Amino acid sequence: MKLGFIGLGNMGLPMAKNLLAAGHEVTVWNRSPAKAEPLREKGARVAGTPAEAARGAEVVFTMLADDRAVEAAVFGSDGLHAGLGKGAVHVSSSTISVALSERLTQAHASAGQGYVSAPVFGRPDAADAKQLWVVAAGAKADVERSRPLLEAVGRGLTVLGEKASAANVVKLSGNFLIASMMEALGEAFALTRKSGVEAKVFMEVFQSVFARGPIFERYAQLIADEKYSPAGFPMRLGLKDVGLVLEAARGAQVPMPLGSLLHDQYLGGVAQGHGDLDWSALGALVAERAGLKRGS
Ligand code: NAP
Repeated sequence: MKLGFIGLGNMGLPMAKNLLAAGHEVTVWNRSPAKAEPLREKGARVAGTPAEAARGAEVVFTMLADDRAVEAAVFGSDGLHAGLGKGAVHVSSSTISVALSERLTQAHASAGQGYVSAPVFGRPDAADAKQLWVVAAGAKADVERSRPLLEAVGRGLTVLGEKASAANVVKLSGNFLIASMMEALGEAFALTRKSGVEAKVFMEVFQSVFARGPIFERYAQLIADEKYSPAGFPMRLGLKDVGLVLEAARGAQVPMPLGSLLHDQYLGGVAQGHGDLDWSALGALVAERAGLKRGS
């Protein structure tokens, strides 16, 4: 297939390399031209503007830093929007806002162009090894046309449906999970270290109990199924444990903002009479405040 690829940073470069390796004809563009040179050596054509990278292509990827970069490369002078032909598809893989994704959907539709939102999970080494997980959404025909390309950059793909910006919501939710997990890990490591436990010792416990265990997935499943009863571990005991964590943290002078937040969440849950639900019903408390009905 004839492709364009715009943005050759840490993620874009290996993704474009894998598209070339899959046998596609790729024209690349990057704001700093030197980053395109390794791909020229692998057979890519190098364009002088995003419009030039898009002209004549069936599908054009963007993999740029943020909203500003995507706006500049798509809507700027000599941007992708001006160069992309009717019926051709823009696949946006950058992590961008829901609002910009909706604007792109509209702008491409009014120009007779397709738009697929396809953000990715995985870091540059995963991109290099074709191990990304892609989350895609957009008009069915456009997603199907892009499918072999999305499969060429990753190990798998979840297609969410026709509303492109849903893929951005899923990507942002995934990054929210990772960030929360890192804060939780940071708080747990700080508390144990400050209490005299070497990081490598806590790491050994972590690896034995959590890293190779199904815990994260199991709790995600309970929240997805809204199955909070019968409780495997009730919220009132969760409240007790988070209270004990904070007590230890106070003693060791370790600020644990996520710990304090969890304590308030559990305290509210118990105060509302949910103390006997499973402690994963934190998910229910959040859903209720968001106005979600159970099972919807
Ligand atoms: P990066 O290495 O910093 O590359 C950013 C790219 O955006 C470069 O090509 C850069 O061009 C370009 N750029 C920045 N501002 C621009 C502007 N105003 N106009 C035109 N081009 C501009 O970032 P990355 O790690 O590849 O990330 C790319 C996207 O993937 C981001 O949205 C990121 O959130 C997402 N993502 C990253 C990871 C990760 O682990 N790194 C994982 C999943 C998703 P220059 O080369 O000229 O600076």
